[in-house]
Amino acid sequence: MTPPGRRARPARPRRSADVGAWAGEADVVVVGYGVAGASAAAEAAAQGADVLVLEHTGGWGGAAAMAGGFIYLGGGTGLQRACGFTDTPQDMHAYLLAAMGDGADADKLALYAERSVEHFDWLVACGVPFRAAFFDRPGWEPHADEGLMYSGGENAHPFAELVAPAPRGHLPRMADKRTGERGGGWMLMRPLVDTARARGVRVRYDTRFEALVVEPDGRVRGVVARNYGEEVAVRARRAVVLATGSFAYDDAMVARHVPLLIGRPGASVEQHDGQGLRAAQAVGADVAHLHACEAALLADPGLMVRGIVVDALGRRVINEDTYPGRIGHALLSHHGSRGFLVADEPAVDEARAQGGPLALLIPPRPTWVGDDVGELEREAGIPPGALAATLGLYNCHAERGEDPVHRKAARWVRPLRAPWGVFDLREHTVGFPLGGLRTDVDGAVLDVDSEPIPGLRAAGRVAAGLSAGGYASGISLGEGSFFGRRAGRAAALDELS
Ligand SMILES: Cc1cc2nc3c(=O)[nH]c(=O)nc-3n(C[C@H](O)[C@H](O)[C@H](O)COP(=O)(O)OP(=O)(O)OC[C@H]3O[C@@H](n4cnc5c(N)ncnc54)[C@H](O)[C@@H]3O)c2cc1C
Repeated sequence: MTPPGRRARPARPRRSADVGAWAGEADVVVVGYGVAGASAAAEAAAQGADVLVLEHTGGWGGAAAMAGGFIYLGGGTGLQRACGFTDTPQDMHAYLLAAMGDGADADKLALYAERSVEHFDWLVACGVPFRAAFFDRPGWEPHADEGLMYSGGENAHPFAELVAPAPRGHLPRMADKRTGERGGGWMLMRPLVDTARARGVRVRYDTRFEALVVEPDGRVRGVVARNYGEEVAVRARRAVVLATGSFAYDDAMVARHVPLLIGRPGASVEQHDGQGLRAAQAVGADVAHLHACEAALLADPGLMVRGIVVDALGRRVINEDTYPGRIGHALLSHHGSRGFLVADEPAVDEARAQGGPLALLIPPRPTWVGDDVGELEREAGIPPGALAATLGLYNCHAERGEDPVHRKAARWVRPLRAPWGVFDLREHTVGFPLGGLRTDVDGAVLDVDSEPIPGLRAAGRVAAGLSAGGYASGISLGEGSFFGRRAGRAAALDELS
């Protein structure tokens, strides 16, 4: 029995001298076979490296294979052009600078925007399919297999006023998709894994990484893992690439670093337990942006955009035509995840008519309905007069087709008339951490003196990437594959020893 506060699986490093026998070895040992791991493995193998992947579960995919599949790409990709959109690396960079949060890694943002078109071409060359069709409605995802959509509020306040908007949410084509089982993310992962396999990448499933093995001079030499209860040590001749995902499912780390997410992990898998992060910290790795998180509000964006989202005090929160993750983030970080969506009958009817499989997720019906605002306020626990004042102000501006308070686009602004429906959105926000190991653009894990730890690279959600708090759908699969590739390529070229 583990004493309270102590870890069942310590992440402290092992000395190479204490490893009795190596159970296997490779030039590059990749830990985790999700999007970052598969991309790293494929690229390392393309450089001629002998690559071994260790994966905790019995199959490839991780959270990525369950994902909706947004990959945030732009700068003028073939898909953007085929759908009739103009985009440039400069505009994409300007958007990322504005959207990813203060303190975001400038080198990563610049490189990601500059090389995004090449990365899209690489994905296509690996066999990831995209249908050249644009989905032009508010929603969490396209309803069918359309390949392109706005996924970061680029066409809404404040970003639309800063930089020419372009849709950058690229979705692999998937018929009859079921996000959480087999969505666009599966159609991203399948070709990446096929590519890695064709290049000779070996995989050991059911093998749970526990700790790093280090030389006396601090160089990472390999890993210790557990396979059906038996401890195995695997040697890396060139480098270890950690690609184990976030710490969403480690309650203690969530409580310490991103308490907003206590009790609400989302868009993650249970293997995202922070072991990779802690093992790297245990050899001196630095971390960045551990407070940052993605937030998803489980409500229909098509309805939110036609109504208003207010907090527990009846005050509007944000422009409702923005990326729904920004609405969720605003509610979670500034309003304790307590909010309400207020809509009228035409709004509900229009949203239902336009809705797809993910429409009206939660709640399916208004919690309270009525034409007496005072009564609705009492029922929802909103202070008397507060919602009435908000509705009055919104409708006063909406009569003129404008929203000078939160700047929702005129296209969505219309007075909301009685009877109103109030949807209870309290506790409908889930999310995952975005911070992690501090790495350079080639995945080298940096120590607290900003020096690379020899033999150790990382990519995907175990590392801090583009975000310092802001987010757009597709950033995780985008940066996981992009920086995963770079980490794999660099690992294959790391010094042989
Ligand atoms: C339902 C859903 C929808 C989503 N939609 C999107 C979307 O549209 N766009 C987007 O960008 N993101 C989306 N995400 C998030 C995205 O899938 C993840 O953030 C992304 O996959 C992270 O990449 P990764 O390589 O770091 O982790 P993963 O892809 O999860 O891969 C990590 C792998 O490491 C393995 N692993 C973990 N610990 C160990 C260990 N100790 N030893 C060995 N192996 C280990 C895991 O089993 C897993 O296979 C979604 C996620 C879900 C679940």
